[in-house]
Amino acid sequence: MRGKRVPAHLSLFKAPITEEDGLILARAVRLLIDDKDAAARAELGALSFIDPVLPPQFVSSVGMSLSDVKRPNVTPAILAPILQRDHWCCRYCGRRLVVAGVLELLGVLASAEFPFPPGHHLPAAGTHPAARRTYPEVDHVHAGVAGGSWTDANNLVAACALQRAQG
Ligand SMILES: [Zn+2]
Repeated sequence: MRGKRVPAHLSLFKAPITEEDGLILARAVRLLIDDKDAAARAELGALSFIDPVLPPQFVSSVGMSLSDVKRPNVTPAILAPILQRDHWCCRYCGRRLVVAGVLELLGVLASAEFPFPPGHHLPAAGTHPAARRTYPEVDHVHAGVAGGSWTDANNLVAACALQRAQG
């Protein structure tokens, strides 16, 4: 897909990536495929439990409450092209994002090393922080409740669940 450009006012935050959660997760998956369960668990054990302090994300709707707003579902048809355009990296912190289903499977196969409760809510308690750092979501640059489009690609960016939670 030929993606549209993200608005120029969205200057990307160039965070130095010191943790490569996505690469660790990829190695763990590879080891599981190769039936090397213990080695896979060791890889998952190397994931940091400490979430870094991230700068606030771009906010265009300070003071708006999202609690009572019914948000349209972000379907795979909307999410997939955005992730592809943004090269599966969070546009706010630069981290690699990982296919949600892979994270869910790791949570089942290695629940001790990589706790991941079912569903997409990713509660802070009970979810490995690395899952929130790599879980792929889209963020609305201009909030839908403030008039931004829910579905226009120009208003959507790939974002990790951690960044969205802190926004
Ligand atoms: Zn992020």
